[in-house]
Amino acid sequence: MKKLAGLLAANSMEEILDYIHGMVALVEHDGALVSWNAAFGEERGKTGNLLDCFSEKEKAKISSMLGTKQRERFAVELGADEDQKTIFYDCVIVPFEDGRSLFIAEQFDTQQALQEIVQRLNRQVRMYQMESEAAKKIARNKQTEVEAIVMQASELSNVDALTFLPNRRMIVRELQNETQRAQRYPAPLSISVVDVDFFKKVNDTYGHLVGDEVLRHVAYQLRDNVRHPDLVGRYGGEEFLILLPNTEAKEAAEQAGRLCKCVREAQFPVGGQDLKVTVSVGVAQYQPGADTWDSLLNRADTAMYKAKKNGRDCWVVMD
Ligand code: GH3
Ligand code: MG
Ligand code: MG
Repeated sequence: MKKLAGLLAANSMEEILDYIHGMVALVEHDGALVSWNAAFGEERGKTGNLLDCFSEKEKAKISSMLGTKQRERFAVELGADEDQKTIFYDCVIVPFEDGRSLFIAEQFDTQQALQEIVQRLNRQVRMYQMESEAAKKIARNKQTEVEAIVMQASELSNVDALTFLPNRRMIVRELQNETQRAQRYPAPLSISVVDVDFFKKVNDTYGHLVGDEVLRHVAYQLRDNVRHPDLVGRYGGEEFLILLPNTEAKEAAEQAGRLCKCVREAQFPVGGQDLKVTVSVGVAQYQPGADTWDSLLNRADTAMYKAKKNGRDCWVVMD
């Protein structure tokens, strides 16, 4: 090649450069155009600076290449063709001793460039697909997690945190269900309101934490001494509600007597000592056609207060 260049005279070189399809331009170190061939084009030449042919993003990169003494090769988009298709160029910057550089740019073979772009896009699509599979999997896992949390939350929202019995919300809901059932089907339903006697004194004497512990023990006593399908719930502070489906007031009273005895005889080991408490119970039976769930509850409550009046540690059945 050196041999050929040496043999060619300057004027024939100009002819040759204009004949070839690649863009050739001689530029100063700052990109100012000195001379260019026909392929580079008059329009580009008019800009006065090679850097103006490139996008803002490419300008800085190419500008830094012009300053070096190294030959640089890179691929770049250099404007669209007549069909507004992006054209990629294979470019070389050849530095000269005097600080100038020769910029040579040859259009990629369109077909090959297209194939490369398609391949690149396909790779990206595959990547996105993989990502979205992973995202879907993560989303599915998250969904399961959320469902588990919601289930736990709804379970927790029905459970009393101190005694682990159904809380007020749940026991009242169950009471509403049971009264509806008793209304629809001719089956008896009784309920009992259980209140710990002189509980304030337990708190005042031993402190609130001991009071909590006693409440837990009473709750277990009640829960362990009722039969299926009776349900015990914590209705309020030291007040419990028992639902007895398919049960007449007479049998409910028997249960109340049994519960009073169990609690009375139990010793609650709390804070290094055995504490004893008693409970008062009010029993009421659902009256079809006359009762609602809250009127039934009120009657059981009234019975419980009667038991308090009667001296506590006993039960009263509401007529
Ligand atoms: P009575 O025999 O008439 O029922 O007397 P009592 O002291 O049990 O009744 P009162 O309603 O005056 O007091 C109930 C006490 O229960 C007052 C309240 O501070 C206490 N209490 C309510 N909830 C809790 C709780 O979760 N933990 C503790 N430690 N105490 C509670
Ligand atoms: Mg009370
Ligand atoms: Mg009480």
